[in-house]
Amino acid sequence: MIVKVKSSLFQELSQRISNLQLQVLRGDDEQDAFNRMLELFLEIGESRFGFVAEVAESSPGKEALRIRAITNLATTQELQAMYMELISGDLFFEAGPNLIGELLRTRQTVIANDVMTDARKNTLPAGHPSIDRFMGIPLMRGNAMLGVVGLANRKTHYDDELIKVLEPLLVTCTTLLEVYRERRQRHAHELALAESRQDVDLMAAAFRSAQDGILITDQKGKILEVNNSFCRDSGYSRELLIGQNPRMLRSGKQSPDFYRLMWQTLSKKGQWVGELWNRRRSGEEYAVRLTIRAIAGDSNDILRYVGVSTDITNIKKHEEKLAWLVFHDEKTGLPNLRYITKQLSEQIRSLKPNEKLCVAYLDIDEFKLINERYGMDCGDRILKLAGEALQQELSPNDLFGRLTGDEFIAVLKNTSEQNFDLQLAAISNAVNTIQSEDFFQALTVSIGATVYPQYKSLDAEQLIRQADQAMYHAKLMGGNLIQYFDHSDERTQAFRHQQVIEIRQALNNEAFVLYYQPKVNMHTHEVVGAEALIRWQHPERGLLTPGAFLPMIENDPVIESIGAWVLHTALCQLSVWSKKGQRIPVSINISPRELHNPEFISNIANALAMHPDVEPNLLQLEVLETSALEDIERVSKVINQCRKFGIEFAIDDFGTGYSSLTYLKHLPVNVIKIDQSFVRNLTHDPSDQAILKSIVDLAKVLGRDVIAEGVETQAHVELLKTLGCHLGQGYAIGHPMSIGGYEKWLMQWQEENYMHGK
Ligand code: C2E
Ligand code: MG
Ligand code: MG
Repeated sequence: MIVKVKSSLFQELSQRISNLQLQVLRGDDEQDAFNRMLELFLEIGESRFGFVAEVAESSPGKEALRIRAITNLATTQELQAMYMELISGDLFFEAGPNLIGELLRTRQTVIANDVMTDARKNTLPAGHPSIDRFMGIPLMRGNAMLGVVGLANRKTHYDDELIKVLEPLLVTCTTLLEVYRERRQRHAHELALAESRQDVDLMAAAFRSAQDGILITDQKGKILEVNNSFCRDSGYSRELLIGQNPRMLRSGKQSPDFYRLMWQTLSKKGQWVGELWNRRRSGEEYAVRLTIRAIAGDSNDILRYVGVSTDITNIKKHEEKLAWLVFHDEKTGLPNLRYITKQLSEQIRSLKPNEKLCVAYLDIDEFKLINERYGMDCGDRILKLAGEALQQELSPNDLFGRLTGDEFIAVLKNTSEQNFDLQLAAISNAVNTIQSEDFFQALTVSIGATVYPQYKSLDAEQLIRQADQAMYHAKLMGGNLIQYFDHSDERTQAFRHQQVIEIRQALNNEAFVLYYQPKVNMHTHEVVGAEALIRWQHPERGLLTPGAFLPMIENDPVIESIGAWVLHTALCQLSVWSKKGQRIPVSINISPRELHNPEFISNIANALAMHPDVEPNLLQLEVLETSALEDIERVSKVINQCRKFGIEFAIDDFGTGYSSLTYLKHLPVNVIKIDQSFVRNLTHDPSDQAILKSIVDLAKVLGRDVIAEGVETQAHVELLKTLGCHLGQGYAIGHPMSIGGYEKWLMQWQEENYMHGK
């Protein structure tokens, strides 16, 4: 069986960071993004409490923090109210002679691993849980401090090591603050413009002092006025702009249709809002978010157009970077798992009939040791070299990317599987020859591969999982190996899984039935009981004997459901017979899994309790010799316990296990059932006769009954009798039969033997 153990925390972390970045890109709920950010900080920072705060924009010089997300510590109503206030963004952490104040002043990380005795400790509101360790990290973009992350009450000390671990989160959090701040500013400007529409004085003031660029044209588009911000953004002086058409700023990035639509909207709605790329005087492209309004005169004719633009080039670049990060690995610049999965899905979809895909999962051997021995920097270099070496062996049409750590993935396309073998061998060789000036050992790689198409259709994720499992196998086999995914294993597993589902359905649909096979005393012809044998009335395959479905599921919990059903059904039958005054002992077969279930005894007791009219000693349980010997001490206890209820036990298929006659002494069973393999050749195999004779003799010594299974012929009957074995079960006596068949057989048997006077 293949076991999957690789589920690295790192992979999960990158995934969650990427999700957050996506959330920001899509402009989803801001508060939720910060809450999730904080969650990640607490998890990776192993801290009980924490907060993410933004440096308040409104207080230049007098730094203060506005909370964006904070652990809810509210144990009292007052604290709950304070928490509500905090998250609504109205409460500030002021700079002062305390830990947070120091951080705001110095813009350096502050660590206090014993806050209680620290002179800089912050005063906490009443009821606030005590803080014993604290770490505050400033979120810097260049020289500007955008925010602070505070973590508290880690079990171990806060240190620089942790800051390194948190680095990807810190970068993402800074970007988060920046993007939202810019969005807010933009929004505020738009609002300001809307409000000042009718207020000319305000308009003029806004015009002069606005951070946004403002441009006013006449109805034909001739520029009449621009403000300083517009000149700053475009790079043109006021003089150069006045009298021109804004067309002069076009970058060519938007199509003529784009502008046509813009003018259409303007003339219809009097306003257009959107984003576009312009070109500065220096030739550089810049992105703006632009609102154009048409200003109408008294007679409703358009007099002026006013455009207000915010330079969003930085945001756009961030967004582009974020979008790139979503599909790439920053360390190597290679595509990441998300990208490969997306592309692989596409390749699967468009695969031509003669083409095959090979997904290869590569993991550098002993990479952890390399990191430990030569340092992380060397490790990173090796990763880069490995990435390059691997890529060289691939054709431009092949996909190649890095997953996490030392794991890479390649997707090859070809028309023959032999070519995959060659390509993978070449890849493995390429890794062997990697050299670096600070690294002196041969590098090897374990490769797990899987080929598509397969006997069933699979998606990209399933294929990658197969390759991962194969890689794990290659590692288990010592590494430096190419291992293909083992489909046979998967196929049986899939089949087994299907079988379990079908069996559950069959139980619900009452598709199982018990057949009964008589057991008789061959000497006196007395019927001593019947063995209940399960059958499956399969809607397509007909009546199935247990060999066709039980072995598949012997380790699955469903076998216990079957056991419960058999026990219940047999007890019902006993109950029916007992009402008719018939005392026919019935034996049922117990699977090893049931026998070893700690609840076995109570299950039996409960079942008996539900059928109070059944004499427990009419029920016999057959346990396999092999399963009884697995844990002879425990099984003996179980048997003794059940025998206290009055139930009998038989050892089934005796002789097929360890055949240890001495063990038998320790098993408190009533009956030994000699396996049919000893009976089959009895008439012409003297050694079988000898074995059978010794089992019979031993059973006598131990005071156990003995019965032969598989009594197929009259010759068997006679020989068994001479060997001292009087009880028998087999086709010579009666086949397993449906309940109706069995009752008919019983009548006939009794009649015949009655007629014979026995
Ligand atoms: P078993 O308990 O040893 O049952 C005897 C098997 O030998 C039965 O096969 C029976 O049909 C077959 N048999 C009886 N007389 C003769 C004969 O003269 N010649 C030959 N060649 N075979 C004979 P069946 O019904 O296919 O069951 C096979 C095995 O499946 C059983 O072996 C038992 O271990 C297991 N089984 C049957 N029913 C159940 C059940 O309800 N639960 C569990 N856990 N196992 C069951
Ligand atoms: Mg049996
Ligand atoms: Mg048997």
